[in-house]
Amino acid sequence: MLPIIEKLLELQDCDRQIIRNRQRIDRIASDRTALESQESNSLSELNEARKNAHAIESQRKELELETDSQQELIQKYSQQQLQTKKNQEYRALANEIVQCRKTISDLEDRQLELMERFDGAQETIESAKQKAEYANKLATEKIRQLAEKDTELRSEVDRLQAEREQLAQRLELPVRQQYERLLKSKGGDGIVDVGQGVCGGCHVKLPVQIVITCKGQKEIVHCPNCGRIVYYDDKRPALVED
Ligand SMILES: [Zn+2]
Repeated sequence: MLPIIEKLLELQDCDRQIIRNRQRIDRIASDRTALESQESNSLSELNEARKNAHAIESQRKELELETDSQQELIQKYSQQQLQTKKNQEYRALANEIVQCRKTISDLEDRQLELMERFDGAQETIESAKQKAEYANKLATEKIRQLAEKDTELRSEVDRLQAEREQLAQRLELPVRQQYERLLKSKGGDGIVDVGQGVCGGCHVKLPVQIVITCKGQKEIVHCPNCGRIVYYDDKRPALVED
């Protein structure tokens, strides 16, 4: 293999590792975001459940106050009954008292209903709490692991960056510039093998002359279709032909 191609392939291999590690780092970031949003969703569910229970309790307290004021009315009407000497007025007050008692009975029914709903809401709070605690525990542990992996990958990228810098310095400037351009546009796939006369990058059949020049291994050859550097791998086991 042409020595310059060997150098380019070593550099490309290093760049491919950098690309793979960067993709892993990106995945870690999105995994982390997903975990955090799961955690915050379960916290909002818990808050919702608490708000709901609180609203039920406030409604019940309001009904309690209404009941108290109805009781006070009964007291008041009873007092007035004791003071009045008129039959009609006495009966009217008695009617009022009956009415108040009926209202109280309705209010008590509604309070009972709210107490049942409150019990249900408490159960919802309990299960939301457990869910939130579990999500928090899980997220904390996983985020810790992800952070460790992230640090590990970042230091690996730093090491590879230094390595690729050294590998790149072995190339003459014009070749290096060609390579860097290909790296940018093709993303770690700029130097490709000519397999069966086809460009290993764009898969277009190469002109015979290009394949012959490639096999000659005297100069850098580009695919006329995609511009990648194509090389002939003489170490690759030949395909058995019938
Ligand atoms: Zn090509």
